[in-house]
Amino acid sequence: MPELPEVETVKESLKLRLKGKKIVDAKIIYDNIIAYPDVENFALKIKNQMINDMKRRGKFLIFDLDDFYLLSHLRMEGKYFFKFKDDKILKHEHVIFNLDSNEQLRYMDTRKFGKMYLIEKENILNIGPLKELGLEPWDENLTSGYLLNKYKKKRLPIKSVLLDQGIIVGIGNIYADEILFLCKINPLKRACDITEKDAKNIIKYTKEVLGEAIKKGGTTIRTYSSVDGVHGLFQEELLVHGKDKGKCPKCGENIVKTRVGGRGTYYCENCQK
Ligand SMILES: [Zn+2]
Repeated sequence: MPELPEVETVKESLKLRLKGKKIVDAKIIYDNIIAYPDVENFALKIKNQMINDMKRRGKFLIFDLDDFYLLSHLRMEGKYFFKFKDDKILKHEHVIFNLDSNEQLRYMDTRKFGKMYLIEKENILNIGPLKELGLEPWDENLTSGYLLNKYKKKRLPIKSVLLDQGIIVGIGNIYADEILFLCKINPLKRACDITEKDAKNIIKYTKEVLGEAIKKGGTTIRTYSSVDGVHGLFQEELLVHGKDKGKCPKCGENIVKTRVGGRGTYYCENCQK
């Protein structure tokens, strides 16, 4: 599943190709990708909208159009491809945007979990998923005081609470493990027991881990080509996540795998007491 750094990379890749181009019209092949409004209105309203910019909020891609924001969440497998009109439409291509450059932007999604929302700009904080999102990792309002206040009544494991997009956006299952390892916090520790020092570390390492991954994504952008599709996965250099056959890079003990809130969770019992 793409996490925040991958979505940031996809956003930058799309921006290079899309900024200043107009969406002539959209063809929706699989209706369930369109979450808001209904398919008919989506197709009607998006006609002749210019793509002025590409943005990101949490794991949502935002197409900044003339009158609307088009939000796109890739979920498990969503990808964008640039194609031409004559190119054969493939099985998992669900939404096709015709651009004024004679290219097509195609949304492909083998799992069909992705969602798109087309929302009037003035309603972006009233309708749809953005209104419920917490702070970006680099928001200056993200302080230890903010976190402790959010955590104080939560008895769930900190691992689960880090995934709560209503507090900090953009931390997915993989990077949550990496952040907790660097903070030396046991993923099962209750959020309400998080100390001020823990909270400061969570903020520090969230910025570091996600920032580093975004930086690595920068190299992916340069090698991007239309046939590869834009997905930008670069999770090879992980410390603990997925390493249950491996050793802790700090102390050499075995990395253990458990489940927290149903999600596969990796940590070092020795370093994360
Ligand atoms: Zn260790």
